[in-house]
Amino acid sequence: MKKKAASIMLAAGLVISAAPANVLADPPPPNEQADHAFDNKIIKKISPDRLYDRVALLSENPREAGTQGEYDAVQYIKKEFEAYGYETELQPFTFQAWDGGTPAIEINHISFDGDVHTFNGSVNGSVEAPIEHVGLATTDEVSDSVKGKIALIERGSISFYEKVQNVYDKGAVGIIMYNGAGQSGNDFGYTYEGQDIPAIAINREAGLSLVEQLQSEEVIGNVTVEDAGTIDQTSYNVIATMKPHKNKDTGQIVTIGAHHDSVAGGPGANDDASGVSGVLELAKVLAKTPTDTELRFMTFGAEEKGLIGSYHYASTLSEGEVDRIAAHFQMDMIGSRDAGDLIMFTPDGNKNLVTDLGASAGARVAEVVEYGQLGRSDHVPFFERGIPAALFIHAPLEPWYHSPQDTLDKISKEKLTEVTEIVGSAVYQIARPDTPALENARVAPGPVHYEFDDRPL
Ligand SMILES: [Zn+2]
Repeated sequence: MKKKAASIMLAAGLVISAAPANVLADPPPPNEQADHAFDNKIIKKISPDRLYDRVALLSENPREAGTQGEYDAVQYIKKEFEAYGYETELQPFTFQAWDGGTPAIEINHISFDGDVHTFNGSVNGSVEAPIEHVGLATTDEVSDSVKGKIALIERGSISFYEKVQNVYDKGAVGIIMYNGAGQSGNDFGYTYEGQDIPAIAINREAGLSLVEQLQSEEVIGNVTVEDAGTIDQTSYNVIATMKPHKNKDTGQIVTIGAHHDSVAGGPGANDDASGVSGVLELAKVLAKTPTDTELRFMTFGAEEKGLIGSYHYASTLSEGEVDRIAAHFQMDMIGSRDAGDLIMFTPDGNKNLVTDLGASAGARVAEVVEYGQLGRSDHVPFFERGIPAALFIHAPLEPWYHSPQDTLDKISKEKLTEVTEIVGSAVYQIARPDTPALENARVAPGPVHYEFDDRPL
């Protein structure tokens, strides 16, 4: 989906979009013109400034699940939904989070000021032993001499699992790992089930100073991890419901979601304050628009911890509700100026009602949207319950993905607006009161041709 629909600006300010060749050949059927009018009802109300301002507000602080930052975002989202007139529910759920407790290192019995951080999954314990530098801790580098010692390891080239296992197998009693070249910070490292060895990460500078010290003398280290373990934390989903017009209720439900949590320490402007802003904007715009379909707007917590919020929500749906949910639209990372084009991902790589609607809405708003195969976001739990679902995202991803650089200045107001318009237009195509219930009619007007794109994320 590389080609852009050409458009011509007229002096009067009108924009004429060049339609695909097959449509140009025949005059558009009357119902398609009507669709444009209906789209405009939604699209004209979508405000690029509001979309952008919400991303600005949400990305002021990180929103890692279980933190105050997430809770503040949740309260803001709830307040917004309520201001638009929605019945709004906070749905709390617990998840297991890792707490690194108190890590400490001593070098020759003097406390080491090397920016220490417990490995995720490390056992608690305190060991004192000579330190041996084992480079990257590949099997070639680790010898029997590490037995009974604390292994000093450089991060990189093989997995944490392999590094830890290689020295553990040779009888090391503790691990200090320093960052590889070009990597900053000390927040890394995993140990796995059965690797019963205290493990601590330090920054590269501190690691290299130890390597240097070891070249001239024996160094006795003390590695201590205290009070580390998993703890229960609470995260929330926010769910806003709009019932259909009483006399026109088709019994059908459409859900529109994003995730409000970010990675630890990341402002998550694009991931996924952008999607949350899209969900809020569509909620605002559709609040005063009569529909024949129940709309549920929702933002999920703990997506970054493994889709925990959306799995929780999906698990609360009754069989009856699942049958009534005609479509789930997920918006995740919809505003990066540095990412690729819009694509719709389904977990099985097959088209479904959501991609049909998205592709044709794309053709009406901007250009046909292609589809591909990917899980990795909150559309998965809906898909697994048998609900047609798709993820709207730009691919390939921007270089700032999951980093502290995922900030407001990288957000494109135009991309943010265009995706919100496409999803809004697709949702309204189902939900508008003049169309019969889904099972009785084709909802996608003048079905468009759209293709599978094996695009990497
Ligand atoms: Zn995300």
